Amino acid sequence: MGEAQNALFPNYARYPLAFVKGEGSRLWDENGKEYLDLMCGLAVTNLGHAPKQVTERLKAQVDTLWHTSNLFHIPDQEKLAQLLVDNSCADAVFFCNSGAEANEAAIKLARRYYQKVLGQPERYEIITFHMSFHGRTLATLTATGQDKVKEGFAPLPEGFVYAPYNDAAALEQTIGPKTCAIMLEMVQGEGGVNPADKAFVQKAAELCKQHGLLLIVDEIQTGVGRTGKLFAYEHYGIEPDIFTLAKALGSGIPIGAMLGKEKLREAFSAGSHGSTFGGNFLSAAAGLATLETILGEKLSDRAAELGDYAVSELKTKLAGNSLVKDVRGLGLLIGIQLTGPSAELIATLQQQGVLVVSAGPNVIRLAPSLVIDKADLDRGLAAVVQVLEQKAAAAV
Ligand SMILES: *Cc1c(COP(=O)(O)O)cnc(C)c1O
Repeated sequence: MGEAQNALFPNYARYPLAFVKGEGSRLWDENGKEYLDLMCGLAVTNLGHAPKQVTERLKAQVDTLWHTSNLFHIPDQEKLAQLLVDNSCADAVFFCNSGAEANEAAIKLARRYYQKVLGQPERYEIITFHMSFHGRTLATLTATGQDKVKEGFAPLPEGFVYAPYNDAAALEQTIGPKTCAIMLEMVQGEGGVNPADKAFVQKAAELCKQHGLLLIVDEIQTGVGRTGKLFAYEHYGIEPDIFTLAKALGSGIPIGAMLGKEKLREAFSAGSHGSTFGGNFLSAAAGLATLETILGEKLSDRAAELGDYAVSELKTKLAGNSLVKDVRGLGLLIGIQLTGPSAELIATLQQQGVLVVSAGPNVIRLAPSLVIDKADLDRGLAAVVQVLEQKAAAAV
């Protein structure tokens, strides 16, 4: 493994590491070295690696049937949709394979609702936010409020405008006669682990009601228990018209979902949108087993408790550390904002067998599994604190 060129496009800056086995919060590399995983493959493996509730269901499904297409009924897909609807503000679900596709579906549904149901084709613009992240397809990278994901991909689709995050007055100013929706994350994950202010989210929801706009919440990183509620919008006392899921929904088996309110159902009439693989037998089984486990074991509550604990520990132990500007988060999505780049610290932690991930250049992001042992979490936090102490001491 390493620097030699291989047959892949070089679009990822990979670490010189390859894992061969995972169990719970632990990973092992090719040399048998053990790692404590505090990043969960980018907030995906919320139940840890190879969780037995999911592997058992998957193994049974692998032996039975994998794929028939969405031309036919898929019972687990319907069960998963029902479970999502029963546990959220949504009434209907569309399944796809990734986060970008889920957001793409949300954008398409919003436009189509205005064009086909309301008969207002002039309203197609969606307001998104600076430092947001919504995916890598042409529409979702355009929705993303960061220039770095757009470079070299012009022309970009029309219909997106941007407002500063957590600024209700600026948002109100951005609404115009073409606006059809406001789309945002409750915690900007890739943008630096920035939780939205409650007053801002409530104002956004109110503006949507007042102007007849759809509120779209991107829960791709925050959903499925990660932030201490099943969905992060629950922290804010609002109900989105549309929200999207992916990352943790299948514990690592690719599945995405776009969920919407009843009034939007008819906007996606037969033939209007689709996916070959979306919610097939394997991914639906993984999704169903994952969601049943999160709900059955009340893992959202566990994420809330452990997250509060971790943030307060980090705040206490890093108070006065000259490299640390802020510690923030919601549940087990935690960011340590540094005064400078995080890359070297992340690499040092990796050498010590602790995996964390950046969120933008200056933030260390922690996203441990929701089932992590308290002792493992303590060990991970201690390693993070120690590395930051050593680096701060070396800097003076
Ligand atoms: C990861 C992410 C996406 C994109 O998901 P993919 O599965 O990589 O397409 C979109 N929005 C948010 C908030 C994300 O964290």
